Amino acid sequence: MYPFKKVISLSECELNELLLCIPKILSQGYKNKGRTRTIPEKEKTLRDATLWVFRRSGKQCWTCGAKIVSEKKLTSRTTFWCPNCQPIGI
Ligand SMILES: [Zn+2]
Repeated sequence: MYPFKKVISLSECELNELLLCIPKILSQGYKNKGRTRTIPEKEKTLRDATLWVFRRSGKQCWTCGAKIVSEKKLTSRTTFWCPNCQPIGI
């Protein structure tokens, strides 16, 4: 899902999906010391392999290979995402 998508524009299905996913991801991150990605054996030597997109601007998306982008848009914090997996409007 595009990270800057407005909550008011989410469908009921998208809201329900978020309600299911957010607790799972938070719990997984807590159990894995802040990491949410399970590292495949071939990537164990890569320094940033435990992060999906955070602080990976310009690096390849683990899922599709597109370059991760980042932007400080709404807050002082930087948001990172894959423009192919999380395109505008989805
Ligand atoms: Zn991607």
